[in-house]
Amino acid sequence: MALVSAKDMLVKAKTEGYAVAQFNINNLEWTKAVLEACEEAKSPVILGVSEGAAKYMTGFKTVADMVKAMVESLNITIPVALHLDHGSYQGTQDAIKAGFSSVMFDGSHYPFEENVAKSKEMIELAHSKGLSIECEVGSIGGEEDGVIGSGELADPRECQAMANLGIDFLAAGIGNIHGKYPENWAGLSFETLEEISKVTNGLPLVLHGGTGIPAEQIKKAISLGVSKINVNTELQLVFAEATRKYIEDGKDLEGKGFDPRKLLAPGVAAIKAMVNEKIDIFGSRNKA
Ligand SMILES: [Zn+2]
Repeated sequence: MALVSAKDMLVKAKTEGYAVAQFNINNLEWTKAVLEACEEAKSPVILGVSEGAAKYMTGFKTVADMVKAMVESLNITIPVALHLDHGSYQGTQDAIKAGFSSVMFDGSHYPFEENVAKSKEMIELAHSKGLSIECEVGSIGGEEDGVIGSGELADPRECQAMANLGIDFLAAGIGNIHGKYPENWAGLSFETLEEISKVTNGLPLVLHGGTGIPAEQIKKAISLGVSKINVNTELQLVFAEATRKYIEDGKDLEGKGFDPRKLLAPGVAAIKAMVNEKIDIFGSRNKA
């Protein structure tokens, strides 16, 4: 199945009351693990790629070509969107050119008027090529590729103005943070989420920083209009933990345990288990 835009899968999720996960990918093993796990679970999926991760994998074109080839080689039948995460003005244009099927343009660090003007331009470009587009209002706390935000609550009026530009889904801060949550985290602001939901007219909403938000809060957020949840750090943590255990147990020193196909296998299995856990919390199993 060819890559698809994320629009239809999120409209369906919103209507049926579940959320589709965006799992960020970092390399071939990551991509394969996420695709295989989602195919087995018959769950639609959004593969997220930050500009930093794309650069690490040598560029947008490498990523797009690898994902397309892998979807074909693995006979993947579920809907798969390849989505740029927190794209810059230039990066968004480059990812579109390279063959991504969905993009996020993050103009949240510009003054609002400039964010609107640039978002408008990117929406036109993305839609002219059949891609879906996500834009962001207000910054999301924590660190996203070197940009530090302080966990703010988005202004519903700004959300409404952004929604009216014709975006396909909206990222807005509701107290969520990228990376690990601090001990004293206040939790999600459902009041803000409800207000944003009300003024954006049924637009699917995106929850960034999905790592470590308790399942009850995730479920409540979905019931209030969140249809896409981004998971990145959590897969990195379980991959690192499983790999560390393999090495600490001395497995790489037994036989051909140093072979990367063996060395990375426990990490891959850990990613798959976490993907399954998220799919069940988000409710997207058998929704492909
Ligand atoms: Zn994010």
